[in-house]
Amino acid sequence: MTKPALPASKQAVVIGGGFGGLAAALRLRALGHRVTLLERNPSLGGRAQRYARDGFIHDAGPTVVTAPQLFDELFALFDQRLADRVELIPLDHWYRFRFHDGGTFGYGQDLQRLQADLEAFAPGASEGYRQLLEQARRMFELGFLGLADQPFHRLSSMLKLAPALLREQAYRSVYGLVGHYVKDQRLRRAFSTAPLLVGGHPGRTTAIYLLIHYLERHWGVHYPKGGVYALVEALEALARDAGVEIRCNTTVERIRSAKSGRLQGLRLADGGEIPAELAVSDADPAWLYARLERPRRWTPKRLHRLHYSMGLCVLYFGATRSYPAVQQHSIYLGPRFTGLLDEIFDGPALPADFNLYLHRPTATDPGMAPPGCDSFYALVPVPNLRAGTRWDQAGPALEEQILDRLEQTFLPGLRQCLHHRFMLTPEDFAERYLSRHGAGFSIAPVLTQSAWFRFHNRSEEVDGLYLTGAGTHPGAGIPGVLSSAKVIERLLRES
Ligand SMILES: Cc1cc2nc3c(=O)[nH]c(=O)nc-3n(C[C@H](O)[C@H](O)[C@H](O)COP(=O)(O)OP(=O)(O)OC[C@H]3O[C@@H](n4cnc5c(N)ncnc54)[C@H](O)[C@@H]3O)c2cc1C
Repeated sequence: MTKPALPASKQAVVIGGGFGGLAAALRLRALGHRVTLLERNPSLGGRAQRYARDGFIHDAGPTVVTAPQLFDELFALFDQRLADRVELIPLDHWYRFRFHDGGTFGYGQDLQRLQADLEAFAPGASEGYRQLLEQARRMFELGFLGLADQPFHRLSSMLKLAPALLREQAYRSVYGLVGHYVKDQRLRRAFSTAPLLVGGHPGRTTAIYLLIHYLERHWGVHYPKGGVYALVEALEALARDAGVEIRCNTTVERIRSAKSGRLQGLRLADGGEIPAELAVSDADPAWLYARLERPRRWTPKRLHRLHYSMGLCVLYFGATRSYPAVQQHSIYLGPRFTGLLDEIFDGPALPADFNLYLHRPTATDPGMAPPGCDSFYALVPVPNLRAGTRWDQAGPALEEQILDRLEQTFLPGLRQCLHHRFMLTPEDFAERYLSRHGAGFSIAPVLTQSAWFRFHNRSEEVDGLYLTGAGTHPGAGIPGVLSSAKVIERLLRES
């Protein structure tokens, strides 16, 4: 392996080994720094953990891989190739929706087929969709190609961008703008679901996030053989080979700084201290900024006022039979959409109904379960911990409701062939990943929390502290967090 060309210049510490932290560690190492990565859990990957039960393998979090070149770039830093370590499979079928009235609609790589299916589902819909896709393309060029890997810590960058944002109607919501083009209510909902993948209410998320729809079309939707965790393993191996020191089971408790504001080091939960001139945090910024020795701008009151993303319940289960008709990514949309989402995002209680996403990796990769079996997870957006739900009581009841809904829709007879099941609730997100309020995706992607308004990648609280990951610019989702590490590299090169 080619070692980084630059001489090691600083002792850098990365807090957290999710995709954002791993990408930042690799980029710092490639810049020549000595890098130590500290992760509180026993394994790296953050939300992209892997669970295994008797030959059934579950990716814990992300399942849809887009913008794969962002992974290639990390390997190229060390003259390596991702393709030599992970097989990325481009999917033909992307999403299959099932609506409460029993209707179904799916789409994937084949755009011509999508246009024909739209016409068959709702006559006239294909022209509206064509215009929507064109709008999504403009959002993608503005928001992703133009901004995702650019630093956004100066207000002037935001002001420069304002005319373009206004022109593209970024002040509207994803759901609002989709409705302008797509009149059929079921299709409108289907094409509005992308913000949920990054923690946003489609009716409140800035329409810039329509870019996700085009990003999928531009670079495709991929699946790594062996699951998304195969990407974590490949990045971890790359980092270790490059000389990054990785310490799991290590929680950072406090950021220590001098009166001047200069970073001094990190205090660990076990009482240990690590001196550092340079630190990159992949921890939830809302958690991190509540643990500064000397907070400046991010007061507890300000952190409290932020809009946090919804919580998630994820039910993992194995079936001792196969459901070959079920595609890899399926979504059930019930009779309520924005009203239900309002209840999820505003509380005060767990709604009685829900929509869900069902993941069946065995549709593409039979190796994710024993022969003849299927591995699944069902994901349900729920209120975060601010709603005060008693998850010890609500969790088991919700599990039963999810199984009922799956039996009525995608997986008839499921209870007769269940091999195992277990569920994560927002309490697990708070406990395992230190996510404030147990939010699934840190702070929500509303316009007032995007770009300059989001947590900056270079901290204004502590000199020498940088922030990567879902709560920072550009935002949640694998492409977002990998891009945030790129922003940090740019900032370090400029400094
Ligand atoms: C169920 C689910 C499904 C998703 N589906 C998709 C998808 O299909 N496609 C997609 O692109 N995105 C998806 N996402 C979003 C995506 O997974 C995340 O936005 C992304 O993985 C977050 O990466 P990260 O590095 O910001 O944070 P994390 O993955 O949360 O990593 C942060 C790490 O920091 C560690 N840490 C935190 N605090 C400390 C501390 N004080 N000391 C030491 N370590 C600490 C945590 O333990 C964790 O390992 C999904 C998310 C979830 C939860």
